[in-house]
Amino acid sequence: MDTDASILKDKFGRNHNYLRISLTERCNLRCTYCMPADGVQLSPKRNLMTADEIYEIAKIFVANGVNKIRLTGGEPLVRKDFKEILKKLSTLNINLSITTNGVLVDRYIETFKTNGLKHINISLDTLNADKFKFITRRNQFKKAFDSIKLLVDNHFKVKINAVLIKGFNDSEIIDLIELTKNLSIAIRFIEFMPFNGNKWDRSKLVTQKEILETVGDYYGSNQFLKLENEENFTSKNYKVLNYKGEFGIISSVSNPFCDSCNRIRLTANGKLKNCLFSNNETDILSVLRSNLQIEPAIKEAINIKHAVRAGMDSFKKLNNPKFHSQNRSMLTIGG
Ligand code: SAM
Ligand code: SF4
Repeated sequence: MDTDASILKDKFGRNHNYLRISLTERCNLRCTYCMPADGVQLSPKRNLMTADEIYEIAKIFVANGVNKIRLTGGEPLVRKDFKEILKKLSTLNINLSITTNGVLVDRYIETFKTNGLKHINISLDTLNADKFKFITRRNQFKKAFDSIKLLVDNHFKVKINAVLIKGFNDSEIIDLIELTKNLSIAIRFIEFMPFNGNKWDRSKLVTQKEILETVGDYYGSNQFLKLENEENFTSKNYKVLNYKGEFGIISSVSNPFCDSCNRIRLTANGKLKNCLFSNNETDILSVLRSNLQIEPAIKEAINIKHAVRAGMDSFKKLNNPKFHSQNRSMLTIGG
């Protein structure tokens, strides 16, 4: 469905056909850029969506035009009923994908296959086990790294998300791109974004421009190509000549791509967020539990979406903690 009457179309004409569902607020890692050191206040279990509720809500979104769903978290694979959720969602006519830290992937290879889940994003910020332990506060580098090869060997479409932090892992930009020499994967460098409690500051940001300068200095500007932007792209993609895979840059901070945004986010406690940077939430789980229609609430959430980054339309505003520290930690949004 893609008509002006669609509840998924906002006042700027953007059609939100891509739903990201956070399955849990829990995680088996503790990434410093994602959550505060002392953790976050978790919702009581009774306030979290059950497998049936996730399916009911997803079905309504799909009936209204959503054709792509990504499962995220927290860490989606720590949810005990993950298999049941995936099985239910696999009956919908959608492109189904997942973002995971990779630690538990080996347990789920067959589940992914049986339920037609082919697109898997793994988050890996470094190829150094000590740095991995430092940034995630857990000693799980080998499990995360080995899951990449395992997925490639099993013919999944794999993307790697790496959040770059100046002075910490920006020295690994080339090493990460070198993984694409022999592996048909996509590395995506994500600009470090500010959220409540993640100690963001401008000096830790590695911008799109800086990444491209590093790549150009190493390979030479005629040795890598800019690829065509995909529809509703977040990542600007490139490829080193003759390499099997590609790399991309997600520049939400220095160069936002809000014009083509088609994403809407559902948190594990059933709140709709119309923008990653927005602290405005619409409680559709309570509406569902009251046996009322959720479509009007969805329509309202989409309708109040700002043109750019929840109103933080300049770098100055994004840089101001008064604005960005009001937003939940990424752990409870889902990326
Ligand atoms: N646990 C899963 C994982 O790590 O892939 C899924 C949830 S995680 C919140 C989703 C994505 O958000 C990850 O790729 C992570 O790197 C990214 N992320 C978290 N905090 C971020 C931040 N402050 N800036 C940019 N990306 C961030
Ligand atoms: Fe967990 Fe993913 Fe957040 Fe890291 S980025 S703490 S793995 S949810």
